[in-house]
Amino acid sequence: MGRKFFVGGNWKCNGTTEEVKKIVTMLNEAEVPSEDVVEVVVSPPYVFLPTVKSILRPDFHVAAQNCWVKKGGAFTGEVSAEMLVNLGIPWVILGHSERRALLNESNEFVGDKVAYALSQGIKVIACVGETLEQREAGSTVTVVAEQTKAIAEKVSDWTNIVLAYEPVWAIGTGKVASPAQAQEVHFELRKWLKENVSAEVAASTRIIYGGSVNGANCKELAGQPDVDGFLVGGASLKPEFVEIIKAAT
Ligand code: PGA
Repeated sequence: MGRKFFVGGNWKCNGTTEEVKKIVTMLNEAEVPSEDVVEVVVSPPYVFLPTVKSILRPDFHVAAQNCWVKKGGAFTGEVSAEMLVNLGIPWVILGHSERRALLNESNEFVGDKVAYALSQGIKVIACVGETLEQREAGSTVTVVAEQTKAIAEKVSDWTNIVLAYEPVWAIGTGKVASPAQAQEVHFELRKWLKENVSAEVAASTRIIYGGSVNGANCKELAGQPDVDGFLVGGASLKPEFVEIIKAAT
């Protein structure tokens, strides 16, 4: 199937110029598998994007953590996809649960954002995931399917999308999904893509896991057949991110 392992580092709203430079130096010095084996993308806050892009090793790439839903203009405080293109930023994270929950981003809004970013030539890490309440109510698969459907309704080409399954209860909590729990949802998401998009898209789309991934738990998660990589928050700010990059090998 040839799904290249993908490891994203989501730095969230963290860092000073000095700290960001330190992380980049650590990454630049790391010995990791080649770009043909693992795709590495780090996502600093907007204000650090140009700095990180200019000093980061060329085999690693940069993502924004969000972008506006349509063409830029009178939208105070927003950053447009066109601006990311202008800066040469190839990736964007969209639909992260922190934005869905804290900024009320709906499934439909996320779908529109994904479609617009793709239309501008930006590749998208699209996040889905259930809350603890939804998991306990047995609605995990329905919730992630609905979130994925809202994206599928707006896009026709999945080549430049990586789907990130991030259970909300696992994000920043230290409560990682077990390999079996992650595999089960990834399997269901792939099945959903097969039944609702196409067998080809299901086979080729990377579905990555996020939520308390660290150097100690990444190997076993990476061993699951439908886990094609990770989106890492807290641990992406630390040297153990290098271990996570190596998890597939
Ligand atoms: P975490 O965050 O690794 O700190 O749990 C993951 C994410 O929010 O992408």
